[in-house]
Amino acid sequence: MTNDQLPPIKGFIETSLLDWPGQVCAVVFLPYCNLRCPYCHNHQLVLEPDTLETLSLEEILGRLTPLQDWVDGICVTGGEPTIHRSLPALLRKIHEAGFKAKVDTNGTQPEFLRYLVTEKLIDCVAMDVKAPLEDAAYARCAGVYVPVDIIRASIEVLAKAEISTMFRCTVAPTLLAKSDVYRLAAQLKELGAENLTRAEAVPSLILQNFSPADPMEPDLKNVNPLTDEALSRMQDQVNHILG
Ligand code: SF4
Repeated sequence: MTNDQLPPIKGFIETSLLDWPGQVCAVVFLPYCNLRCPYCHNHQLVLEPDTLETLSLEEILGRLTPLQDWVDGICVTGGEPTIHRSLPALLRKIHEAGFKAKVDTNGTQPEFLRYLVTEKLIDCVAMDVKAPLEDAAYARCAGVYVPVDIIRASIEVLAKAEISTMFRCTVAPTLLAKSDVYRLAAQLKELGAENLTRAEAVPSLILQNFSPADPMEPDLKNVNPLTDEALSRMQDQVNHILG
Protein backbone atom coordinates (compact mmCIF):
# COMPACT_ATOMS: atom_id res chain seq x y z
CA MET A 1 0.00 0.00 0.00
CA THR A 2 1.39 3.41 -0.90
CA ASN A 3 1.06 6.57 1.14
CA ASP A 4 -1.45 7.76 -1.53
CA GLN A 5 -3.92 5.20 -0.17
CA LEU A 6 -3.59 6.52 3.37
CA PRO A 7 -4.85 9.83 4.74
CA PRO A 8 -2.14 12.52 4.82
CA ILE A 9 -0.53 12.93 8.25
CA LYS A 10 0.14 16.56 9.10
CA GLY A 11 1.45 16.34 12.65
CA PHE A 12 2.98 13.88 15.11
CA ILE A 13 3.63 13.79 18.86
CA GLU A 14 5.83 10.90 19.96
CA THR A 15 4.46 10.42 23.48
CA SER A 16 1.49 11.90 25.29
CA LEU A 17 0.06 11.11 28.72
CA LEU A 18 -2.97 13.34 28.13
CA ASP A 19 -4.69 12.07 24.99
CA TRP A 20 -5.67 8.54 26.12
CA PRO A 21 -6.55 8.18 29.80
CA GLY A 22 -4.46 5.48 31.48
CA GLN A 23 -2.31 4.92 28.38
CA VAL A 24 0.87 6.33 26.95
CA CYS A 25 0.16 7.14 23.33
CA ALA A 26 1.60 8.77 20.27
CA VAL A 27 -0.63 11.22 18.42
CA VAL A 28 -1.02 11.73 14.67
CA PHE A 29 -2.96 14.65 13.21
CA LEU A 30 -5.05 14.42 10.02
CA PRO A 31 -6.07 17.55 8.09
CA TYR A 32 -9.42 19.16 7.28
CA CYS A 33 -12.69 19.25 9.19
CA ASN A 34 -16.34 19.64 8.23
CA LEU A 35 -17.05 21.88 11.27
CA ARG A 36 -15.84 25.40 12.11
CA CYS A 37 -16.03 25.56 15.91
CA PRO A 38 -15.27 29.16 16.91
CA TYR A 39 -12.91 28.01 19.70
CA CYS A 40 -10.94 25.56 17.49
CA HIS A 41 -7.23 25.93 18.17
CA ASN A 42 -6.23 23.55 15.34
CA HIS A 43 -7.44 25.91 12.64
CA GLN A 44 -4.25 25.78 10.60
CA LEU A 45 -4.81 22.04 10.28
CA VAL A 46 -8.46 22.64 9.40
CA LEU A 47 -8.16 25.63 7.04
CA GLU A 48 -4.61 25.64 5.66
CA PRO A 49 -3.22 22.10 5.91
CA ASP A 50 -1.17 22.60 2.73
CA THR A 51 1.08 24.92 4.72
CA LEU A 52 2.06 21.95 6.91
CA GLU A 53 4.54 19.25 5.94
CA THR A 54 3.11 15.79 5.17
CA LEU A 55 4.74 13.11 7.31
CA SER A 56 5.31 9.51 6.30
CA LEU A 57 3.60 6.76 8.29
CA GLU A 58 6.60 4.47 7.76
CA GLU A 59 8.88 7.05 9.35
CA ILE A 60 6.49 7.52 12.27
CA LEU A 61 6.16 3.77 12.88
CA GLY A 62 9.94 3.46 12.52
CA ARG A 63 10.33 5.94 15.37
CA LEU A 64 7.68 4.28 17.52
CA THR A 65 8.65 0.63 17.11
CA PRO A 66 11.71 0.88 19.42
CA LEU A 67 9.38 2.48 22.02
CA GLN A 68 6.85 -0.36 21.91
CA ASP A 69 7.44 -1.28 25.58
CA TRP A 70 6.40 2.26 26.51
CA VAL A 71 3.84 3.36 23.98
CA ASP A 72 0.49 1.54 24.22
CA GLY A 73 -1.27 3.04 21.24
CA ILE A 74 -1.64 5.77 18.65
CA CYS A 75 -4.33 8.42 18.87
CA VAL A 76 -5.58 9.62 15.48
CA THR A 77 -6.90 13.14 15.80
CA GLY A 78 -7.34 16.21 13.62
CA GLY A 79 -8.99 18.02 12.09
CA GLU A 80 -11.65 15.35 11.75
CA PRO A 81 -10.28 11.85 11.07
CA THR A 82 -13.61 10.33 9.94
CA ILE A 83 -13.92 12.53 6.86
CA HIS A 84 -11.01 10.52 5.38
CA ARG A 85 -12.37 7.43 3.61
CA SER A 86 -8.89 5.87 3.85
CA LEU A 87 -8.91 6.04 7.68
CA PRO A 88 -9.55 2.25 7.98
CA ALA A 89 -6.31 1.56 6.11
CA LEU A 90 -4.39 3.76 8.55
CA LEU A 91 -5.99 2.05 11.56
CA ARG A 92 -5.15 -1.40 10.14
CA LYS A 93 -1.52 -0.30 9.70
CA ILE A 94 -1.45 0.86 13.32
CA HIS A 95 -2.76 -2.51 14.53
CA GLU A 96 -0.39 -4.44 12.26
CA ALA A 97 2.50 -2.50 13.80
CA GLY A 98 1.42 -3.75 17.24
CA PHE A 99 -0.23 -0.60 18.61
CA LYS A 100 -3.78 -0.01 19.81
CA ALA A 101 -5.73 2.73 18.01
CA LYS A 102 -7.82 5.58 19.36
CA VAL A 103 -9.83 7.99 17.21
CA ASP A 104 -10.97 11.48 18.20
CA THR A 105 -14.11 12.49 16.33
CA ASN A 106 -16.80 15.14 16.15
CA GLY A 107 -19.42 12.43 15.59
CA THR A 108 -20.73 13.69 12.25
CA GLN A 109 -20.22 10.35 10.40
CA PRO A 110 -22.28 7.81 12.38
CA GLU A 111 -22.31 5.08 9.73
CA PHE A 112 -18.55 5.30 9.25
CA LEU A 113 -18.11 5.18 13.02
CA ARG A 114 -20.32 2.09 13.16
CA TYR A 115 -18.11 0.50 10.49
CA LEU A 116 -14.92 1.25 12.46
CA VAL A 117 -16.46 -0.25 15.60
CA THR A 118 -17.89 -3.32 13.83
CA GLU A 119 -14.61 -4.04 12.05
CA LYS A 120 -12.77 -3.71 15.41
CA LEU A 121 -10.49 -1.06 13.95
CA ILE A 122 -10.60 1.13 17.06
CA ASP A 123 -9.86 0.37 20.70
CA CYS A 124 -10.94 3.73 22.10
CA VAL A 125 -13.02 6.69 20.91
CA ALA A 126 -13.30 10.22 22.21
CA MET A 127 -16.26 12.03 20.69
CA ASP A 128 -16.62 15.76 21.06
CA VAL A 129 -20.19 16.84 21.65
CA LYS A 130 -20.47 20.54 21.02
CA ALA A 131 -23.76 21.54 22.60
CA PRO A 132 -27.13 20.18 23.70
CA LEU A 133 -28.78 18.27 20.87
CA GLU A 134 -30.76 21.19 19.48
CA ASP A 135 -30.10 22.61 16.02
CA ALA A 136 -29.60 26.26 17.00
CA ALA A 137 -27.27 25.53 19.92
CA TYR A 138 -25.28 23.03 17.85
CA ALA A 139 -24.86 25.45 14.95
CA ARG A 140 -23.66 28.14 17.36
CA CYS A 141 -20.95 25.92 18.82
CA ALA A 142 -19.97 24.03 15.65
CA GLY A 143 -19.85 27.15 13.45
CA VAL A 144 -21.96 25.44 10.76
CA TYR A 145 -25.38 23.79 10.61
CA VAL A 146 -25.23 20.19 11.84
CA PRO A 147 -28.41 18.07 11.83
CA VAL A 148 -28.40 16.87 15.44
CA ASP A 149 -29.90 13.52 14.40
CA ILE A 150 -26.50 12.48 13.10
CA ILE A 151 -24.86 13.41 16.40
CA ARG A 152 -27.55 11.44 18.24
CA ALA A 153 -26.90 8.46 15.95
CA SER A 154 -23.16 8.54 16.71
CA ILE A 155 -23.83 8.70 20.45
CA GLU A 156 -26.09 5.65 20.13
CA VAL A 157 -23.41 3.74 18.19
CA LEU A 158 -20.85 4.43 20.91
CA ALA A 159 -23.20 3.85 23.83
CA LYS A 160 -23.70 0.28 22.58
CA ALA A 161 -20.09 -0.34 21.50
CA GLU A 162 -17.93 -2.45 23.76
CA ILE A 163 -14.91 -0.24 23.36
CA SER A 164 -13.49 2.36 25.66
CA THR A 165 -15.46 5.57 25.00
CA MET A 166 -15.56 9.09 26.34
CA PHE A 167 -17.58 12.13 25.38
CA ARG A 168 -16.01 15.57 25.71
CA CYS A 169 -17.43 19.07 25.61
CA THR A 170 -15.48 22.31 25.38
CA VAL A 171 -17.10 25.02 27.47
CA ALA A 172 -16.69 28.56 26.11
CA PRO A 173 -18.76 30.92 28.31
CA THR A 174 -20.23 32.97 25.45
CA LEU A 175 -21.31 29.85 23.55
CA LEU A 176 -22.60 27.52 26.27
CA ALA A 177 -24.46 28.35 29.45
CA LYS A 178 -24.38 26.10 32.49
CA SER A 179 -27.94 25.04 31.72
CA ASP A 180 -26.88 24.00 28.18
CA VAL A 181 -24.18 21.75 29.59
CA TYR A 182 -26.56 20.12 32.08
CA ARG A 183 -29.16 19.59 29.37
CA LEU A 184 -26.52 17.89 27.21
CA ALA A 185 -25.59 15.60 30.13
CA ALA A 186 -29.26 14.64 30.57
CA GLN A 187 -29.60 13.95 26.83
CA LEU A 188 -26.50 11.75 26.87
CA LYS A 189 -27.97 9.83 29.78
CA GLU A 190 -31.22 9.28 27.85
CA LEU A 191 -29.17 7.92 24.94
CA GLY A 192 -27.45 5.35 27.16
CA ALA A 193 -24.18 7.14 27.92
CA GLU A 194 -24.42 6.27 31.63
CA ASN A 195 -23.63 2.64 30.71
CA LEU A 196 -20.60 3.41 28.57
CA THR A 197 -17.57 1.21 28.42
CA ARG A 198 -15.37 3.89 29.88
CA ALA A 199 -11.74 4.72 29.39
CA GLU A 200 -10.20 4.20 32.83
CA ALA A 201 -11.85 6.14 35.65
CA VAL A 202 -12.88 9.16 33.60
CA PRO A 203 -16.36 10.72 33.59
CA SER A 204 -18.71 9.77 30.73
CA LEU A 205 -18.78 13.46 29.74
CA ILE A 206 -15.50 15.29 30.25
CA LEU A 207 -15.73 19.07 30.31
CA GLN A 208 -12.79 20.95 28.84
CA ASN A 209 -12.04 24.62 29.30
CA PHE A 210 -11.70 26.65 26.14
CA SER A 211 -8.46 28.52 25.53
CA PRO A 212 -8.58 32.12 24.30
CA ALA A 213 -4.94 31.88 23.12
CA ASP A 214 -5.54 31.25 19.39
CA PRO A 215 -9.19 30.47 18.58
CA MET A 216 -10.55 30.21 15.02
CA GLU A 217 -12.95 33.07 15.79
CA PRO A 218 -10.73 36.03 16.78
CA ASP A 219 -13.48 37.64 18.92
CA LEU A 220 -13.12 34.79 21.41
CA LYS A 221 -9.64 36.07 22.28
CA ASN A 222 -11.41 38.61 24.47
CA VAL A 223 -13.47 36.05 26.38
CA ASN A 224 -12.27 34.86 29.77
CA PRO A 225 -12.41 31.09 30.24
CA LEU A 226 -14.14 29.69 33.31
CA THR A 227 -12.06 29.43 36.46
CA ASP A 228 -10.84 25.94 37.34
CA GLU A 229 -13.20 25.97 40.33
CA ALA A 230 -16.24 26.86 38.21
CA LEU A 231 -15.42 24.16 35.65
CA SER A 232 -14.88 21.62 38.41
CA ARG A 233 -18.27 22.45 40.02
CA MET A 234 -19.91 22.07 36.61
CA GLN A 235 -18.15 18.72 36.12
CA ASP A 236 -19.43 17.52 39.52
CA GLN A 237 -23.00 18.35 38.51
CA VAL A 238 -22.55 16.62 35.13
CA ASN A 239 -21.24 13.50 36.92
CA HIS A 240 -24.26 13.63 39.21
CA ILE A 241 -26.66 13.84 36.24
CA LEU A 242 -24.95 10.98 34.41
CA GLY A 243 -24.78 8.82 37.55
S1 SF4 B 1 -12.64 21.88 17.21
FE1 SF4 B 1 -14.29 21.82 15.68
S2 SF4 B 1 -13.40 22.76 13.82
FE2 SF4 B 1 -11.70 22.20 15.18
S3 SF4 B 1 -11.08 20.18 14.52
FE3 SF4 B 1 -12.54 19.88 16.20
S4 SF4 B 1 -14.53 19.66 15.23
FE4 SF4 B 1 -13.13 20.52 13.69
